[in-house]
Formats: sequence, C-alpha cells, structure tokens
Amino acid sequence: MEMDLSQVERALTAELYPENFYAVSSPYNDVAIRGKRIRRADHTMWQSILPEEDEDVDMILASLRASTGHGDRYLTSAIYAHQRLRELPRLKKQQERHFHLDLTRLKAIDAVLCKVDATDADLMAFLDEEITAYLTATRPNQLLPTPAQIRKKINTLIQTRDTSVSEEDSDERPTEFLEVSTDGDSSVLAAGMDTATALEIDARVHAHARAHDLTPVAALVALIRGEGTTDVTLNVYRAHDVPDAPAWIDGVGWITADAAEKLEEMTTSIRDMDLVLGKVSKAYHTPEDIRAAVIGLDGGCSYPWCTRPGSCSQMDHRINFADGGETSSTNLSGLCPRHHNIKTDGRARYIIDPETREKIWLFDNGTWMISQPTGPLAPEQRRWVQTIGQRTQKRRNRIREEAQERKSRKVPHDWGDDPPPF
Ligand SMILES: [Zn+2]
Repeated sequence: MEMDLSQVERALTAELYPENFYAVSSPYNDVAIRGKRIRRADHTMWQSILPEEDEDVDMILASLRASTGHGDRYLTSAIYAHQRLRELPRLKKQQERHFHLDLTRLKAIDAVLCKVDATDADLMAFLDEEITAYLTATRPNQLLPTPAQIRKKINTLIQTRDTSVSEEDSDERPTEFLEVSTDGDSSVLAAGMDTATALEIDARVHAHARAHDLTPVAALVALIRGEGTTDVTLNVYRAHDVPDAPAWIDGVGWITADAAEKLEEMTTSIRDMDLVLGKVSKAYHTPEDIRAAVIGLDGGCSYPWCTRPGSCSQMDHRINFADGGETSSTNLSGLCPRHHNIKTDGRARYIIDPETREKIWLFDNGTWMISQPTGPLAPEQRRWVQTIGQRTQKRRNRIREEAQERKSRKVPHDWGDDPPPF
C-alpha cells in the first residue's frame, strides 16, 4: 500500500531526514544528534547576548566572564564571530537550519573576513554566497571542512576576487624585504617578495633537498652558497578556456591570475591535462604526466581530512595492477605513505565516483565516509573556476559601463548663487 503523505509531512521528513547532510549533523548517528543539540544551544546563547551598538562592551564582558567562565579573548572572539554571522545572512540561515558550524569554525570565518572591507556590500554578498555554497552538504554523510580548510577557502575567495579592476586601480608592488631576527642561537631569515618568485624558490629548494637528501634549510643554504644548481618543473594548473582564471599549485592552493601569468612567463612547457586524463600507461610505475593529472584531480592525499600535499603522495592503484587495474588517472589515487599503508593492509577500502571524483571510504569497523577531491581538475573545482570567470567578466563589464557613464556625465558643476568658499 502506498503511503500518502501530506505536504506538511513531506516537508517535515525532508527537514528531519535531509537527503544531503554533513556527518556532524547526521540524523542517523547518536553522537552527531547530541553534538548538534550542543551546537544549537551554543549558537542560540551567543546570538541572544550580542551587545547592541550603544552598549558598554566592558560591562558586558565582565558579566559574561562571570556567567560563562571564559576569558576576555575567548568572549570577544565569540562575540565577533556571531556578529559576523549577521553580515552573512545566507550562511546564518543555513547554520540555523543545520547547526553544522561550531564556534571554532565560526571564529575561523570571522578571523579571515577581518581582512576585507565589510562595508563593501557587493563583496560581502559575493562572500556570503560563496561561503554558504562551500559549507552546504551536497552528499549524505559528507565531511565538514576543518577550520583550517575553511580559512584557506575564504582566503582563496578573497584572493581570486578580481581586484585589478577596482576603482582605485593601483600599481602597488609587493613589499620586498630581507630580514634576520635573532633570538640567541637561533634566527629567522625572512624575505618578502612577489608570489611567483617565492613559489619558484620554494620549488627549487625542495627539489634540491630531495635530490641530495637534505633538509629544506640545508638545501637553501647550499644553493645560496653556490654549491649546487636545480632544475625544476613546477606544475601550474590553469584553465585555458576561462579568461583571467586563477591557477592552482600543489601544496599552495589557488593563486591569483596575476601571479599565474608571471609563473607562466617562466614556464617552458605546457601540458594539456585534458589529454593526460584519458591516458593509460602499460607500466606499473606512474609516468610524471599521469601523476600530475592524479594530483590535479585529488589535490593531495585522498584519505578523509588528510592535508598532505601531492608532492608527498604515492600513487595507489585502486584496483591492483596485478588484478588488471590500469595505470591511469581513473584507477589511481594520491595517498600519503601513512594512509597508503592503511589501504594496502586492508583496514580501509574506497571506491571512486567516476563523475565527481569523490571517494567513498569503507572502514573495517563498518563505517563509511566520503572524501571530496580538492584538486583543480576535479569537476566541482572546474565548475567553480568557470563561475568565478563569469563573475569576473560580468563585474568587469559593469565597472566599465559605470565608468563610461560617469565620464559622459562629467560636466562642470553648477554652484548656482552659492559658490563654495575656495
Ligand atoms: Zn594522508
């Protein structure tokens, strides 16, 4: 017999048992259910005690110290984080539906957003939309991004926002400096420079370190003293069909279009990743180009939450080579040595969703989780680059139109009978 649900019942079921949800808000897991209750209570408390603009913050802090037992630093950062949420109405709505974000994550969001001009309504609306999309589950039992991942994502969003067309178009050069700060027997040597040069030096130092089995610092010292030379291949991933697309570099993440262009000037060879993605090698060992494609898809180690970069990843044949598994990007995953062992000794297995490149991990104890790919070649990241490209184009057109309109309206001001006193 088919059950006939009323509209209200259907809406209620969808609310209580959503199709897609973060594992922390799972309606099927006791710990998650309790955790969500705690987060909801915490969220409601902070939102209810936010000071009004004219209130004396010191008085409020004193009373909150007494009633929560937390110190001033904890309290002020919590208050800022919850005030910030009010500037992000979409995210707030999402949070008040799922209560997936804890205070640490809300504080992480606020800490990065302190860098931007919150009075820029256009920018805030963009960030609200993008952050909300990033923090919305698109799969059942999805892993919630860590505070560090959230910070990285928001930094990327700020960075990829096209600033070169802002009204106060400036030719500001990156600050260059070279400093040594000494503390007893140990010192810090710091250099500030443009991103492209910094990434190139970093790649050279690490290549030299690997080739001669040195620590990165020993490699840097050796290179500076002229005791060796390096030849590096720095894989820069960049969509060629999107104007001013940001680029992605292993271990760094997304970099701006400007930095990407400078890097491309230094590049001698360009690999078309679309061709490499379909390539199959007959050998067991993964050739460099297929490895670059796998890292471009996975973004680093594919194990849930692992943040080791692609450079540390080993190539795992999901279906063993001996069992007929191909050496191709569809059958290979990047796994750091530690997590490669967990897969090899059979404590965890995974399958790859061929459409999304997500990995569904199945563990020995019967639990499962989905890890998302973070590389620039993964379908969702590709789509994201496309949308960013379209937005930039639109915004650029709008700014140009506004500038032309301003120009056409530029006529001497008519002060009438009341000229200004200068
Ligand atoms: Zn790992």
